[in-house]
Amino acid sequence: MYEAGGWVLLESTLADVPADLRWLIESGTITIEQIAAVHRALDVTSAADVAAAIEEQMLRRVAGIGEPVESAVANALPGIRASIPRIPLGRAMAIADPLLAHLRSSAGVAWAEPVGSLRRGQDMVGDLEIVAPMNDPARAIDEALELADVSRHLHRSERRVYALVERVQVGLRFPEPANAGASLLYLTGSRAHFAALQKHAQAAGLRLMPSGLHARDGVLQPAAHEDDIYRALGLPSIPAEIRDGLEEVAMAARGDLPALVSRRDIRGDLHMHSTWSDGRDSIEAMVTACRALGYDYMAITDHSPTSAATRNLTIDGVKRQADEIAALRERYPDIAILHGCEVDILPDGRLDFPDGVLEQFDIVLASLHERAGQPSDQLMKRYESAMRHPLVAMITHPTNRLVPYRTGYDLDYARFFDLAAETHTVMEIDGAPAHLDLDGPLARRAVAAGAEVAVDSDCHRAEMLERQMHLGIMTARRGWVEPRHVVNARPLPDVRALIARKRTGR
Ligand SMILES: [Zn+2]
Ligand SMILES: [Zn+2]
Repeated sequence: MYEAGGWVLLESTLADVPADLRWLIESGTITIEQIAAVHRALDVTSAADVAAAIEEQMLRRVAGIGEPVESAVANALPGIRASIPRIPLGRAMAIADPLLAHLRSSAGVAWAEPVGSLRRGQDMVGDLEIVAPMNDPARAIDEALELADVSRHLHRSERRVYALVERVQVGLRFPEPANAGASLLYLTGSRAHFAALQKHAQAAGLRLMPSGLHARDGVLQPAAHEDDIYRALGLPSIPAEIRDGLEEVAMAARGDLPALVSRRDIRGDLHMHSTWSDGRDSIEAMVTACRALGYDYMAITDHSPTSAATRNLTIDGVKRQADEIAALRERYPDIAILHGCEVDILPDGRLDFPDGVLEQFDIVLASLHERAGQPSDQLMKRYESAMRHPLVAMITHPTNRLVPYRTGYDLDYARFFDLAAETHTVMEIDGAPAHLDLDGPLARRAVAAGAEVAVDSDCHRAEMLERQMHLGIMTARRGWVEPRHVVNARPLPDVRALIARKRTGR
């Protein structure tokens, strides 16, 4: 301070203010003194809290704020939300999962859920916050801060802590259990979904506010669980992944909500790599992990010779790999191990293995691995010839996007999905964090066009099989995908029949 001036102290203190409030101060709509007063009065720590305080007209009542500041803040909020840095869903999940597991196993925690874009399974996550209702959270906060990955805490109050985990801000909230369902519902969003629920409540003579559901007489009806609020509104619970605010509330009110696919429906994983190409683990390690996940079947699908992967399966290798798999089938009779491959679609539309080799596989997945750079009608031609090939059962990561760096191919997806339906080629929903491909909206279009989908992990490490399947499932749910659309929600004979039908052209 002596050498650099007092601002050093201010800057270092500001760095510990929860990120949303920091952005708010920097927007110039509210001073540090004012935000401190708001925080003291309302325990506001995030943009969602500020929005709630505005909605409930609480902000203006804080000493030194008033209506002009409140409306300036209200105007600045959307811009602040848009400028908040986002991280990929896979990374957010990797950070949140250990915390969630810890909280869920802690005494006195009834449930723990992520909120915001993470719970809704968006590709890019802005808020990393977890809600875990508790009566007396002091010890739980201490314990959470002792976890190895938590490098330091930014803010701590009675029922809240913000910490840095791998340089990402994570918020933990421990609301009173009696009305924790209201916090979960409001903080999960989306804002449009919450607004649609508010309208629905109003029509029923109720008042839904960020603080909870209020009866006709204005008295708060506490909700320990989110379901309690949906029930009070006369609605079934709406899955977080489809809370976009577009149509789901009206559909729920009509009883038209689909039963979305869930992890429990999945019987096998049809796309993963081993050390025969660029995977990190042996086939046996992948088999052991898949058995532990309770799968009935799995497919080992390594890359073909000219794929851009660091290591590829050669024609020579196919036979030796088949022998290894045959031995593993004897050792592990409780899981069906399909011998497959992920074959590249070459620039001229042919496949990267001769048909004589492809015939030996139980399942053939085909894909493009190059960045764009080719006109979209050229890409479509390559895809079409692959889809018309009787040995190709599935197109993997169809848009070939790279989250968050590269958007997918700019194709005529209406035609693409029609072709998939016509040729009985399965479209993949790939759960690898960099893929999540098809994404939710495209998956929805695919099933609407009559195409079948598979949800796969595209895993390169045994320890990631479950998380990547989970990411794939979330993405499928964002696409309103139901179990009946999902090939690997079916028993193995059905999967084999699907492959055989295409091969024989019947
Ligand atoms: Zn691939
Ligand atoms: Zn792959």
